[in-house]
Amino acid sequence: MTDLTKLSLAEASKGLKAKSFSATELTGAYLGAIEAANGALNAYVAVTAEQATTMAKASDEKLAKGEGGSLEGIPLGVKDLFATKGVHTQAASHILDGFKPGYESTVTSNLWRDGAVMLGKLNMDEFAMGSSNETSYYGPVVSPFRSEGSNAQLVPGGSSGGSAAAVAAWLCAGATATDTGGSIRQPAAFTGTVGIKPTYGRSSRWGTVAFASSLDQAGPIARTVEDSALMLRSMAGFDPKDSTSVDLPVPDFAAAVERGVKGLCIGVPKEYRMEGMPAEIEKLWEQGLAWLRAEGATVKDISLPHTKYALPAYYIVAPAEASSNLARYDGVKYGLRVTGKDITDMYELTRAAGFGREVKRRIMIGTYVLSAGYFDAYYVKAQKVRTLIKKDFEDAFAAGVDAILTPATPSASFGIGDETLAADPVKMYLNDVFTVTVNMAGLPGIAVPAGKDGQGLPLGLQLIGKPFDEETLFAAARVIERSAATDFSPKPWW
Ligand code: GLN
Repeated sequence: MTDLTKLSLAEASKGLKAKSFSATELTGAYLGAIEAANGALNAYVAVTAEQATTMAKASDEKLAKGEGGSLEGIPLGVKDLFATKGVHTQAASHILDGFKPGYESTVTSNLWRDGAVMLGKLNMDEFAMGSSNETSYYGPVVSPFRSEGSNAQLVPGGSSGGSAAAVAAWLCAGATATDTGGSIRQPAAFTGTVGIKPTYGRSSRWGTVAFASSLDQAGPIARTVEDSALMLRSMAGFDPKDSTSVDLPVPDFAAAVERGVKGLCIGVPKEYRMEGMPAEIEKLWEQGLAWLRAEGATVKDISLPHTKYALPAYYIVAPAEASSNLARYDGVKYGLRVTGKDITDMYELTRAAGFGREVKRRIMIGTYVLSAGYFDAYYVKAQKVRTLIKKDFEDAFAAGVDAILTPATPSASFGIGDETLAADPVKMYLNDVFTVTVNMAGLPGIAVPAGKDGQGLPLGLQLIGKPFDEETLFAAARVIERSAATDFSPKPWW
């Protein structure tokens, strides 16, 4: 039999329905691949083999009767940020040691409702803060990719680094991820996978560990545009338990994938032409536009004048919300407790021991920008900037633009432990320069692999859409995927 893990999610689904193989066999193949690879890649922080086997058996019973949901028998990985009932849920943090929630997140409940099988929990940056998966308490995820002729270990991006690496290295058919400033799209771009952050409100945040509540959205990382459409359809939907989730029907996203781009107007924002951007990224962008034009889209230069303020404003809003959200981890309700001489001492010792450096940095920045005397100068100003960023996009859409094409990241993947990045956290923050605007405006954004750099590493393009118009993004991303006609899979070394 061919290696079942190499099938796309859509192909695996067809194979299951045609009874070419069983869900138990498919799950077994993935569990075997995880066992062989995880020591080298560190993508999973917990493998739920027993649960996976039980779920796969239940799927086989349904499939035998010709029943089952849209993802029946499909093995998925789950980012450690999603609460999974009775299963390791720690946001890759020490402070949540031993935490096993008594409830299931809405997004994962939706996936299980549709028949998906849980393989385990995926590594990530601690509390989703980072762009390289190096802030995890469980250590970095190693990218399945290497530069040509080099054995140096590279990052898979972050914060959903475990999700991206596991999908690229055939350790799950698809994975859940979250995106507050780029954490679905940047790791997807680094690993030759497809990642979509839906419109804010499209998927429920209930049961997902909160980082910055006004920016966080869940979405899938998958190996193809079609697979990501299939997953998002299941993950998304109105949830009365999340007051920011929007009561709109979820379209059949997969039906939009082959819709094409004929007659669409694609905007090209001049402000995304960053100084010092590598020539190969510039070339890739031009290539992407040429592909869309060749299939009948028109291309229009646009201006998003407040782009340069997005990153600084994000690094005020996100830490502010994080400092408030993370106040609950105090040694009383969850996870780690370091005892002290009194309760204040216990809080302090627990938080000092439980949070990593990056998380502490964010809590301090957030507390500072929210404190009396600085609130107006920083937080209120950043919120005003956010409104202007949103308006830039609204103006572009009002002028007839259907979607916007930009690079997904300013570079390809970089080395684990990169010294220039370790020395200056702001350099790490620059990874998000093309992605944070989308979260600030609440819009949908998809990253799709489009080319490779001089060292053979994947590079992605980003499409940004109108609110709740993920369908256009799937259609345009599919044109790029088809036109690139490139195998973006890594050469296994693990
Ligand atoms: N890299 C960004 C940050 O560190 C975005 C993270 C995210 O989207 N979760 O905040």
